[in-house]
Amino acid sequence: MHEAHALSGIKPYLFADIDRKRAALVERGIDVISLGIGDPDMPTPERIVEAMVEAVRNPANHQYPDYAGSLAFRTAAASYMSRRFGVEVDPATEVLTLIGSKEGIAHLHTAFVDPGDYVLVPSIGYPVYVTGAVLQNAQTWAMPMTADNGFLADFTAVPDEVAKKAKIMFLGYPNNPTGAIATPEYFDAAINFCRQHDILLAHDNAYSDLTFDGYVAPSILERPGARDVCIEFFSLSKPFNMTGWRLGFACGSARAIAALGKVKNNLDSGQFTAVQEAGIVALTDCQDDVTAMCGVYARRRDLLVDALHAIGVECDSPKATIYVWAKVPAGETSESFATTLLEKAHVVVTPGSGYGADGEGYIRLSLTTPDDQLREAVRRMKGAMA
Ligand SMILES: *Cc1c(COP(=O)(O)O)cnc(C)c1O
Repeated sequence: MHEAHALSGIKPYLFADIDRKRAALVERGIDVISLGIGDPDMPTPERIVEAMVEAVRNPANHQYPDYAGSLAFRTAAASYMSRRFGVEVDPATEVLTLIGSKEGIAHLHTAFVDPGDYVLVPSIGYPVYVTGAVLQNAQTWAMPMTADNGFLADFTAVPDEVAKKAKIMFLGYPNNPTGAIATPEYFDAAINFCRQHDILLAHDNAYSDLTFDGYVAPSILERPGARDVCIEFFSLSKPFNMTGWRLGFACGSARAIAALGKVKNNLDSGQFTAVQEAGIVALTDCQDDVTAMCGVYARRRDLLVDALHAIGVECDSPKATIYVWAKVPAGETSESFATTLLEKAHVVVTPGSGYGADGEGYIRLSLTTPDDQLREAVRRMKGAMA
């Protein structure tokens, strides 16, 4: 047998080495604290679980689901967009249910990219923006992201000949992993750039509702001119502690939604309708739970940022997301520092270089660990760095 050539273009899992070392420590009975994964540690709100239990008992939900998602879920998503952002989308033509937003992001490449085309990706970003392109035998061009530009991916650096062959530009704010937030002016300039070059702007908004200190994150669809060039991805995973359920949605340009829907019609059969019914309860009825989660993450963020500062590690206090993006000490690389923390403190963090070239020199620490373990992790890091 012969694997597809495209598969060999996917680099070995960058965190594999750390995973291996972690497994070896755990095998020796050592208590390893993980600040590595962005996977909420608290359970899904009870109301959502109850709705699911009820929906599972309904035989109507046992048959093939609607490919594009149930109209009821898409309508709940449209109502959320209207209530939360003042953005009106038509549930029938401008909203698509996803089996998690990762699925939609990966399939967007299949819908829009031919071999040899370019996909514009942030130089620090969610890995699927790149791997989705690789699987289509497309090329990626990394838009520079640095502390100096506020980690706002610099599309003005894209060469003309690349822009001409570019089909999709991916952006995502509030940003995983940097915690950066976008300004309205930045979104407007990105929309103009994509209009000018006839590029689909895909905005990954997985953290729109996990914000702190009074900050309210926007939808890119609020901006003038966004409607016909943008598709925006939302995920129920992070705000509702539903990573295991696999539910998200895309909305925006009817043409982009139709193309993505056509791919999905042929590759999957839609998310289990019972999961979508539970998702309706999340989108409609669980704002209090999300507010409570924001309180928990804000408290953990303060605890972690203060502790990092106390041991001389530089980091900003993020206004959103569930991550702290910290600079590695002088003389260390992302990977060497992550390895030091693992070996000396038994704490797992993610090397920034795993998210792209400009992530070198940083680590990402996740806030999805109970407070007492987070405190213990910081105490150990202090010891390791002393
Ligand atoms: C977690 C995450 C996703 C994927 O979310 P799912 O809906 O669980 O697939 C997408 N983008 C970013 C930036 C994420 O952090």
